[in-house]
Amino acid sequence: MNLKNLYGLFLLGAFSASPAMAETGIEQVCQRIANKLASVKYAECDSGLVLSGASSIKHTPILMKEYPPVATRVPQSRVLLVGGIHGDEYSSVSVVFKWMKTLNQHHSGLFHWKVVPLLNPDGLLQRKSMRMNANGVDLNRNFPTRNWVEEAEHYWVKRTHRNPRRYPGKLPLSEPESRWLYGLIEEFKPDAIVAVHAPYGVLDFDGPPRPPKRLGHLYLNLLGAYPGSLGNYAGVENNIPVITIELPHAGIMPSKQQISHIWTDLVRWLKKNTPRREQLLAPATAADNQAGPS
Ligand SMILES: [Zn+2]
Repeated sequence: MNLKNLYGLFLLGAFSASPAMAETGIEQVCQRIANKLASVKYAECDSGLVLSGASSIKHTPILMKEYPPVATRVPQSRVLLVGGIHGDEYSSVSVVFKWMKTLNQHHSGLFHWKVVPLLNPDGLLQRKSMRMNANGVDLNRNFPTRNWVEEAEHYWVKRTHRNPRRYPGKLPLSEPESRWLYGLIEEFKPDAIVAVHAPYGVLDFDGPPRPPKRLGHLYLNLLGAYPGSLGNYAGVENNIPVITIELPHAGIMPSKQQISHIWTDLVRWLKKNTPRREQLLAPATAADNQAGPS
């Protein structure tokens, strides 16, 4: 066999390997999530999540799911929903899966959703789950807020006394997980971001407009903005409303009713407070509606 044939074989191998690898990637991650979280069944995870193209430090793929616009409707706005930014906040991952189940059944095209149930797979999917990623960085302090270089380390040293759970990293976006989410925000341009955490049992909010007073059983309690936090970066500095849902317990799920009540209130708030794109478009004429494919 000459070199050219060998090269051809190599290419064939490379191309045929990728779909299989992709499938294995999703299955493996879902299996690990289902093994870790009693409230997430394997089938709940492996139901349309795709590889985002990004991986954690330990090469675990970050999965996501898009609920795109439907043919008959221009979505009112784009919403990004993220769980598991902190790996030891189990309920923040599980609850996002429950809301995905709702979207799987009822996505109506009112919003264009992108959902990331677990941004920090390394933090969750190890024997003893931890808040930070595998580099020991708190991803929620790694976003590129203004003056990050001056403020983030100073804050960490002076205010948290070098608490390893709040370590912001060496540089903004030093971590693949935060870097990828940053890129997704740039590209998707969400009109609102919903970040799920635990265990403070409150609702936090950054950015415009007026926050919801409550979502379900969680009441507004502004926790403040930190150097490098997602709320500070996206909400305060870039005017994208960031709704932070702080569930009351990291290891205990809210009741079914509570989960669904938060969701209903959230959707109601988004309906009232995010742009209605259809109003920005010229109204369709009768001729447009009758036009066949051109
Ligand atoms: Zn958190």
